[in-house]
Amino acid sequence: MGFCESNNENRLQFSGIMIQLRIQKFMEVLPMAYKITSACVSCGACADACPAGAISQGDDSYIIDASACLDCGSCSDTCPNGAIVPAE
Ligand code: SF4
Ligand code: SF4
Repeated sequence: MGFCESNNENRLQFSGIMIQLRIQKFMEVLPMAYKITSACVSCGACADACPAGAISQGDDSYIIDASACLDCGSCSDTCPNGAIVPAE
């Protein structure tokens, strides 16, 4: 393996590590604004109120897709059971 070839390989490895670190950092700062607790009775009102379509029926309760949530709070205001609370 020539010097240039080995250098390119090192550069590629370094780029891969940098991309991994950036993804990791992004996941750490991605906020989960609201969460749906076990008080959910699956009435569906929050899904209808969500302007981003970020709420859907899960296995046991409704769930919020954090990557689509706009942090507007409509779901929390709408829930008749107080089941949607700010995430820690
Ligand atoms: S409005 Fe409240 S009780 Fe109804 S589905 Fe949403 S979280 Fe569950
Ligand atoms: S905070 Fe707003 S955008 Fe996020 S899940 Fe609730 S209603 Fe949807």
